[in-house]
Amino acid sequence: MILLSGAKVVTADGVRDPGFVRVEGERIAGVGGPPAPPGATPPHETLPAGETDPAGETLPGRETEERHALDGMWVVPGMVDLHVHGGGGASYTTGKPEDVLAALAFHRAGGTTTSFASLVTAAPEDLLRAVASIAELVGDQGLEGIHLEGPFLARARCGAQAPGFLLEPDVALLRRLLAAGHGSVAMVTVAPELDGAVTLIREIVDAGAIAAIGHSDATYDQAMAAIDAGATVATHLFNGMRPRHHREPGIAGAALDRDEVTCELIADGVHLHPATVREAFAAAPGRVSLVTDAISAAGAGDGTFRLGPVTVAVVGGRAHLDGQEVVAGSTITAGDGFAYAVRDARLAITDVVHAAAGRPASLIRRAADRGTIEVGKSADLVVLDAGLRVVGVMARGAWVVRPAASGRGR
Ligand SMILES: [Zn+2]
Repeated sequence: MILLSGAKVVTADGVRDPGFVRVEGERIAGVGGPPAPPGATPPHETLPAGETDPAGETLPGRETEERHALDGMWVVPGMVDLHVHGGGGASYTTGKPEDVLAALAFHRAGGTTTSFASLVTAAPEDLLRAVASIAELVGDQGLEGIHLEGPFLARARCGAQAPGFLLEPDVALLRRLLAAGHGSVAMVTVAPELDGAVTLIREIVDAGAIAAIGHSDATYDQAMAAIDAGATVATHLFNGMRPRHHREPGIAGAALDRDEVTCELIADGVHLHPATVREAFAAAPGRVSLVTDAISAAGAGDGTFRLGPVTVAVVGGRAHLDGQEVVAGSTITAGDGFAYAVRDARLAITDVVHAAAGRPASLIRRAADRGTIEVGKSADLVVLDAGLRVVGVMARGAWVVRPAASGRGR
């Protein structure tokens, strides 16, 4: 048993301050602490003086094996990042198992306990090879599936996507990619204005995957048609999209307008103004999913990196297409984005927790097991210090990063 106590624990009902989280095995076994929110306190959610069973009675045989006094710190749910290309010098785009595992490990230490692996546009045979290889690793280290960001994207808004490999929607190629993944291709981003996009979106949804819209010059009406066909995610809202105009709100305006759409946001201080981050949270309450869109350069310093077929230069933590001004992904961890959203965009920590964990967990149909700190769910937890730096990460009840400044045992 592991007991985390004294911290501000962010639950779906609000902040328990000071609160506790009790972990047994891979699961959260108890959550609570004063003051309890009115009317939301089941009998077992009280701070145990000793060890208590769920009915509140003392169990003499149960020993506290590990205690962490986390006064002044925060405990939040493990973060769920549905758009990330790599980190720690390694890229998912190679498809090599050692690269995939290294990128997952880097981001786990930064707070991500559930992740997609995103692949940028590349030659079809390279994508097929990477999908088949990464599919073998789904289930390891919180890897939940593959996100294909391309190749069915718009040239006009391709950003760092290699223009030479962009394709018109092609159902036969989509089917080959889905088949190569044996069910692990979980999300595909498509530009709605391309010929055949609506048919492709229906095909993606029928296959059980999430259809996302982005890297697109779509008008409001074109985006609406894609959402009507089943698209439920806007890929990094505002970035790689037609800018909004008050008479033509475009794809971003459509995404904000529809309650079924989850809006990805890159809160890295480079891709979006903090006021734009705040605006999206206000316009799409409960529907924002924070993503890193991180590339291999995250955690690897400045230099030159590969993003699929393109070369990216990183200067001062900012990733650009080599020799151009085009922003090419981020160099942040999920923990960095979380801290930025609270500190710089001045959002409520409960809203940011929902965007970093709850909403994306629901989107991938994992809400019963992940996304909030609740009894019975997977013990995926992040400990933040008073400055919101990640100082502890637990995945499935095991420490990935053990909080240093806390007591152990008794
Ligand atoms: Zn991306």
